Amino acid sequence: FVKSSVIEGTQFEDDSDQETIDAKDILKRELQDERKTLPIYKFRDELLKAVDEYQVIVIVGETGSGKTTQIPQYLHEAGYTARGKVACTQPRRVAAMSVAARVSQEMGVKLGHEVGYSIRFEDCTSEKTMIKYMTDGMLLREFLGEPDLAGYSVVMVDEAHERTLSTDILFGLVKDIARFRPDLKLLISSATLDAEKFSDYFDSAPIFKIPGRRYPVEVHYTKAPEADYIDAAIVTILQIHVTQPPGDILVFLTGQEEIETVDEILKHKTRGLGTKIPELNICPIYANLPTELQAKIFETTPEGSRKVVLATNIAETSLTIDGIKYVIDPGFCKIKSYNPRTGMESLLINPISKASANQRAGRSGRTGPGKCFRLYTSYNYMHDLEDNTVPEIQRTNLANVVLTLKSLGIHDLVNFDFMDPPPSEALLKALEQLFALSALNSRGELTKTGRRMAEFPLDPMLSKSIVAAEKYKCSDEVISIASMLSIGNSIFYRPKDKQVHADNARLNFHTGNVGDHIALLNVYNSWKETDFSTQWCYENYIQVRSMKRARDIRDQLEGLLERVEIEVCSNASDLDAIKKAITSGFFHHSARLQKNGSYRTVKNPQTVFVHPSSGLAQLLPRWVIYHELVLTTKEYMRQVTELKPEWLVEIAPHYYQLKDVDDAGSKKLPKGQGRAAL
Ligand code: ADP
Ligand code: MG
Repeated sequence: FVKSSVIEGTQFEDDSDQETIDAKDILKRELQDERKTLPIYKFRDELLKAVDEYQVIVIVGETGSGKTTQIPQYLHEAGYTARGKVACTQPRRVAAMSVAARVSQEMGVKLGHEVGYSIRFEDCTSEKTMIKYMTDGMLLREFLGEPDLAGYSVVMVDEAHERTLSTDILFGLVKDIARFRPDLKLLISSATLDAEKFSDYFDSAPIFKIPGRRYPVEVHYTKAPEADYIDAAIVTILQIHVTQPPGDILVFLTGQEEIETVDEILKHKTRGLGTKIPELNICPIYANLPTELQAKIFETTPEGSRKVVLATNIAETSLTIDGIKYVIDPGFCKIKSYNPRTGMESLLINPISKASANQRAGRSGRTGPGKCFRLYTSYNYMHDLEDNTVPEIQRTNLANVVLTLKSLGIHDLVNFDFMDPPPSEALLKALEQLFALSALNSRGELTKTGRRMAEFPLDPMLSKSIVAAEKYKCSDEVISIASMLSIGNSIFYRPKDKQVHADNARLNFHTGNVGDHIALLNVYNSWKETDFSTQWCYENYIQVRSMKRARDIRDQLEGLLERVEIEVCSNASDLDAIKKAITSGFFHHSARLQKNGSYRTVKNPQTVFVHPSSGLAQLLPRWVIYHELVLTTKEYMRQVTELKPEWLVEIAPHYYQLKDVDDAGSKKLPKGQGRAAL
């Protein structure tokens, strides 16, 4: 089974009466032929018959068999879209976008017309849209506006094995609406074989298996544990490249930063390889990668060169890249972990599960025999890896979900039909947190504040800051900060050869030690003052793409403000007011300086540090609030702002008492802790 190149269109030249066939037609027809080569194609009619017969079906098939791209098209061809849209949910936004792009190409329509996608802050659909790829979180939000999903004829919950928080909640909701909407079809599709569990949950729904096509994969382990898996990955890439026959390489890394590091080092090392060694094309893929570059991973590798794809977990099952022959698996992924006792959430780099390791290995044997290089020992694999990843619902902060469910009128959370229930401690903590944020009253009912917060597709803490900005008359500033925070840490860049310039440019926004939140606001406002100039971004080492996205998000937040009837109000000169609004959402995240320069979080004490990238990293104020914790070498607070401790009591009197902030009056600094100027 060899895939023909998409560009070649010669075979059509003499099989048509038409004089000219334009390139688009050729492409479409080639893609139509290609569709027929996918394993799922043979089961098309059988599958459609099953959908006709049963309301709920569980579908299982190897990654790459065509579930995501083909099933919605089959349903469309069979007429389901005449009765309503077909939704197909994806745990990851990159997958939703990329698959929608592919399917629109296969159908020969413009993306956003008949085939579209919807992800947070980006709706690429129209009146015409019949097949809608979307993140699971977006479908969850659609329940808020349309509790019976009346606009849909089929909902396909795809990548169900990933068991993301939103997918798990969707299970409960779609199972419920299926009871009073007999016309709604539900497809639960998964790449792994734990289909029985899904079937049991959906009242013994039939399981439809799509036999996979998988070639043998040779698995190699390291003899001893690797001290540095990044280093080991790079060495392995180069070894494969120099010694192994043609075939592309897929490397699993944990996130953008690692991918960029490996990308840079590889570029540097391959420069010295000389002309005898074939070219190595490096293709990164991660959630924040600009769309234009995402498409690059699917381009066929030119003859005589080799492609190496540096990917996050996204390539494990969500995206299939053809031509991969070698997989390098360091054995880690980044996961959110949550301690319900302390209420603290942090991103951690964790060992993967055996199930993940096997999925990863399988990526190399799709189109021929493959090889997987595991950068850990076989002993590690056997004894240290868990069988399966714990579902997200059991290891995350549930405040967001609880707020959504409450807005849907679901009050009895303990008896909600969870496939795997969350720990009751975590549910309780979420209720407590929402109560502290005044989103729920003491009876656990949604308050006006809570109802407003639920309108924002943001974490409840951030929504609370926005809603609280009404009181401090600074909603204009707070939505700018919120949109900048939503971009993640891809605003500034720091080219290796211009680090000093980049750092200086960055410090400009921190003048007056205003803290990271206000600094983000300064960045946004300065850019706005230049009339959103690209040149200005270059001069200040700021990613113009990230800024445009922030502007987009900000526009949407502004629209939502209107919806919840909060006036857009600017109070730019009163920084304390802005900081208080932020604190109104983030008072849980307060920390106090210790004598040794570390911080202790105020409630549920834990030792944390100011992230070196913070504008306050040298200053170390006595009291701070932070946006999030990230664990790398230490537990770091990212996005930090100085705080007056009395604010905590003023803003959250039900959460903080005076004794928690007892040194409020004292201005003395701990010994040896100089207030160095920036
Ligand atoms: P599954 O959902 O069963 O894992 P998919 O429907 O995602 O399978 O993939 C089927 C085929 O479509 C694969 O061969 C894959 O390479 C191809 N494909 C999917 N998305 C794209 C894309 N964005 N560009 C090019 N090919 C794609
Ligand atoms: Mg898929």
